[in-house]
Amino acid sequence: MPKHSPSTLDPRSPLVLDTRDLPRRPGALREVQRVVPAPADLGVELIGVPEGADLDLDLRLQSVSEGVLVSGTITGPIRGECGRCLREINESMAVTIQELYAYENSTTDATTDEDEVGRMQGDLIDLEPALRDALVLTLPTNPLCREDCPGLCPECGVHWDDLPADHSHQQIDPRWAGLSQLTRTEE
Ligand SMILES: [Zn+2]
Ligand SMILES: [Zn+2]
Repeated sequence: MPKHSPSTLDPRSPLVLDTRDLPRRPGALREVQRVVPAPADLGVELIGVPEGADLDLDLRLQSVSEGVLVSGTITGPIRGECGRCLREINESMAVTIQELYAYENSTTDATTDEDEVGRMQGDLIDLEPALRDALVLTLPTNPLCREDCPGLCPECGVHWDDLPADHSHQQIDPRWAGLSQLTRTEE
């Protein structure tokens, strides 16, 4: 579990939202629409958002009594490898975010665990942990190029799509065929 990050947020960081122009009055709203570069290692082992790819933020920031509620969607490309045939997967993903970020020194800040409710640093909100959590839930643990991908022939490594229906490795190699002839004569 990620504990309190001691690092100070950088307002210029692509996934840090600055709420300076959002009045701290419950109900106040700001829309955030922007495209930012994806951070490194956004995803799971076999599939994820390539570093630097365009992440499309379409978010709504709403002041509530104890902090800021961030909701909306983040979309971007995902790239990976089919778990059965290793073909490249190029898709896009959309994750829905709905997170409350408590003001520093608010009651929520004092009475909740950081794993339950996000924290603001001054006027800044770090979206990255919420995005990572949401994305990991969205991504398939066993990505496939298509639902019914038949995978590769275990003998020759060719995709079953590219092989004739009767493809098999049952026939005996001519060299071994000769050898089996030999064995038979010895008997
Ligand atoms: Zn596949
Ligand atoms: Zn084969």
